[in-house]
Amino acid sequence: MAGCAAARELVKAGRDVVLFEAADGLGGRARSWHRPEIEPDVGINLMCASIYSLMLEMIREHGLENELSSISSNLLVVDNGVPAALPSDSVTALLSYRHVRLRDRIAFIVASMREMLVNRNRIDLFDPVKLAEFDDGTTATEYGNRILSRRGFDYMLRSQIEGFWNFDCDRISVSHARAMLAQMGGAKFYVFSRGMEVLAEKNAEGADVRLGHEVEELRLDGERVRVTARGNDGTVVSEEFDDIVVAVPAPIAAKLASALPQRAVSEETRTYLESQEYEPALSVSYLVDRDALPAETHIMAGGAEDPKIRNMITYPKRVRTGRGTTVDKLLVFAYPGRAVTRRLLGLPPEQQFAEVTPLLRTMWPSFPSDPEPFQIAERPYGFPLPTPGRYRRSVQVMRGQRAPVVFAGDYFSSPTTEAAMISGVRAARVLTGSGDPLGPVRPGSR
Ligand SMILES: Cc1cc2nc3c(=O)[nH]c(=O)nc-3n(C[C@H](O)[C@H](O)[C@H](O)COP(=O)(O)OP(=O)(O)OC[C@H]3O[C@@H](n4cnc5c(N)ncnc54)[C@H](O)[C@@H]3O)c2cc1C
Repeated sequence: MAGCAAARELVKAGRDVVLFEAADGLGGRARSWHRPEIEPDVGINLMCASIYSLMLEMIREHGLENELSSISSNLLVVDNGVPAALPSDSVTALLSYRHVRLRDRIAFIVASMREMLVNRNRIDLFDPVKLAEFDDGTTATEYGNRILSRRGFDYMLRSQIEGFWNFDCDRISVSHARAMLAQMGGAKFYVFSRGMEVLAEKNAEGADVRLGHEVEELRLDGERVRVTARGNDGTVVSEEFDDIVVAVPAPIAAKLASALPQRAVSEETRTYLESQEYEPALSVSYLVDRDALPAETHIMAGGAEDPKIRNMITYPKRVRTGRGTTVDKLLVFAYPGRAVTRRLLGLPPEQQFAEVTPLLRTMWPSFPSDPEPFQIAERPYGFPLPTPGRYRRSVQVMRGQRAPVVFAGDYFSSPTTEAAMISGVRAARVLTGSGDPLGPVRPGSR
C-alpha cells in the first residue's frame, strides 16, 4: 500500500516509475486470498473505516465506490466464555456494557469525549507527526490505568487495541491508545468486495509493474541507485534509477540498506530500521453453520493475558458446492494470541488447523466441534510495534530523508493501510520536492 501510493504520486508528477514486487500480485499485507467458492470475496478481511480520509479520496478518484461493502461494527468482548457487546457508536448502549463497573463505563465515556472534543484535530492514528506530540515515553497500559481501573482498561481499551493489532498494550505508546479514543467512536467500517489490492493496483497504474521480482541488492553508482532483482524464473535484472522509494517491512529495508553508504542512508535511519519489532499474524478461517455464531461481528478476548485465541471475525457467505448448488454459511476468521501465533508460524497448514481448531472453544464455548477448515494466511511481519517514543523517532527519521533513497511503510506510523499510504505519499514528496514532506496528507487534516 505504501509503495503503490508513492507510485501514484510519482506518476502524477510526471516521473517514469518502475515497481518491483516480490509477490505475484500487489497489495502486500493487504492482499486477499481468492477462493472461487465464495462471493463476494473478503480474503484476509481487511477493513477500512470512515476515518480513512486519504483512502476514501483515492477510492473516489479511481471510481471504486462500488467495491466497498459496508459491514457492521459490532464488537463483543469475551470474559471466560461470556460475551458482552461493547458498542462504539452509542453512549447509552455503552453504559450497559456488563463486563466492567458503571464507574469504568462512565470514565471511559468521559475520556473518549475529552479526546474527541479536545484532541480530535491534534492527534491522528495514521499520522506520526501528530502522534509524536503525545508520545511522552509512557505506554498505553500506563495511560489506561490512569483513566480507568485495571479491569476497566483490560476489558474496554486493551481488548479493542489488542483485538485489532494483537500487540501487547504494555509495550506500545500512549499515543496509539489516545488516538483510538479520539477517532474510533462512531466510525463506520467497510471491506473491499474484491480485496483491498484493487486500490493498490489502481494506484500503480502508469508505473511499469514487475511482479515476481524480489529486490536483492541496492547500490549507489555515483548519484544513481542500482537495483538488482531476481525474477521468479531465476533471471537477475539489474537497472539504474535516479532515485528510489523502498517500501518493504523494516527488517527487509534494513538488509537492503546495508550495502548503501552513509551519505544515502544515515546512521539514524539505519538504527531505526533495525530496531523495529513486529507482531506476526496468523489468519485461520473456517466455514460453520450460519447460526453457530453472531454474524458480522468482531469477537475479542478481554483481559490482560495473552489468550490462546485473540479474536474472531464472522461474515455470512453464500458458498458454492461441488454439485452446482449454494449453501449459506458463516466464514469465521480466527486469530490466535501471540504465543500460539509464534509457535505455529511456518508449520504446514494441516498442522496449523489441527492445533487451532481445539482452541476455538476457549473463546466461544459453543463453537462447532467439526468446523470446516477453509484457508490460512500468514503474515510473519504482521504489525510493527509503535513502542513508546517510536512516533517521535519516526518523525526525526522522516525529517532527515533525502533523495536518492527514501523509505516508506507502516512502521513509520500505526499498522494500518491508511498510515502506510500516507508514508508513501510523503516519500514521493521528498523525491519530487513538491510540498513539505511532513505536511498534512489527509484531506481535511491540518
Ligand atoms: C492480519 C492483518 C490484518 C490487518 N487488518 C487491517 C485492516 O483491517 N485495516 C487496515 O487498515 N490495516 C490492516 N492491517 C495492516 C495493513 O495490512 C498494513 O499496515 C499495510 O498493508 C502495510 O503496508 P506497507 O506497504 O507498509 O507494507 P507491506 O504490505 O508489507 O508491503 C510491502 C511489499 O513489499 C514486498 N516486498 C518485500 N520484500 C521485497 C523485496 N525484497 N523486493 C520486492 N518486493 C518486496 C512485499 O511482497 C509487499 O508487497 C492488517 C495487517 C495484518 C497482518
